[in-house]
Amino acid sequence: MSATKTGYFSHPSCRRHEMGRGHPECPERLDAIEDRLLATGVIDALDRRQAREASDEEIALAHDPMHVAAVRGLREEIAEQVAAGGYAYAHIDPDTAMCPHSWDAAVHAVGAVLDATDAVMAGEVENAFCAVRPPGHHATRGRAMGFCIFNSVATGVRYAIDRHGLKRVAVVDFDVHHGNGTEDILAGDERVLMVGLFQHPFYPGSGDPPLAANMVNLPVPAYTKGPAIRAMIEAEWLPRLEAFRPEMVFISAGFDAHREDDLGQLGLVEADYVWITDRVKDIAHRHAQGRIVSSLEGGYNLDALGRSVEAHVRSLAGL
Ligand SMILES: [Zn+2]
Repeated sequence: MSATKTGYFSHPSCRRHEMGRGHPECPERLDAIEDRLLATGVIDALDRRQAREASDEEIALAHDPMHVAAVRGLREEIAEQVAAGGYAYAHIDPDTAMCPHSWDAAVHAVGAVLDATDAVMAGEVENAFCAVRPPGHHATRGRAMGFCIFNSVATGVRYAIDRHGLKRVAVVDFDVHHGNGTEDILAGDERVLMVGLFQHPFYPGSGDPPLAANMVNLPVPAYTKGPAIRAMIEAEWLPRLEAFRPEMVFISAGFDAHREDDLGQLGLVEADYVWITDRVKDIAHRHAQGRIVSSLEGGYNLDALGRSVEAHVRSLAGL
């Protein structure tokens, strides 16, 4: 396989967002990814870019402007408390909080996906991986939840349609948790096909049945391993993606379905992530000039996360 030009988008602010000691969605996740890509030399094959911030208007392509304003309001509250000499968190739900750096991280996480979309559409890179946090796929049109503030992938999809004029965009979500936010935003939008798999029943409890015909949801029982999941993908995802003929593919790349990840109970391993990514690349090459933008979602066992992202990025880059 010949090498592909793959972009790698991130921003230092994504490292500074944190939700309190012991929270699994921690800054060290990005260190684990960078360390692994450095140690293996994979980073040298990537086109590294520092992401811009997304504007409120861009985020509102996927979100209710009231949600953007509410998050901005929390940012102001936190800033006032910091100015008064404290260090404040604003809790959004039992799992999700903002610190003084969270706004910057969230708007750069979205900005990375938008920048990656621009770079892929311009042909500067064939595909891209966004090493960003907070993750996004649980954030609904009107609400932050489940470690997520803004839905980066859903915003990217709407940006590709709205700003680049694409008519058919696919989303692939292999995080162990159902991408309820992306489904909430994109269900019923005939310009979009979303294929997902997720442990079920499990957090956040949604996904079965899907909200609309453009959602291909595969609920998977706990302890299912790679071979069974590959068979489900071949039977359910690939024919739908083939028939849809996407002009671009976004990936919500969560790695918490890895067998070593304690936040889920599925049994994927690195080779499965390579296989899934290779299948998505096949679809993208047949229909979308290879255009893929992948963005980090979950993945909480730091060692497994580093290895899984390496495997995924190697596949994207054809290494
Ligand atoms: Zn997850």
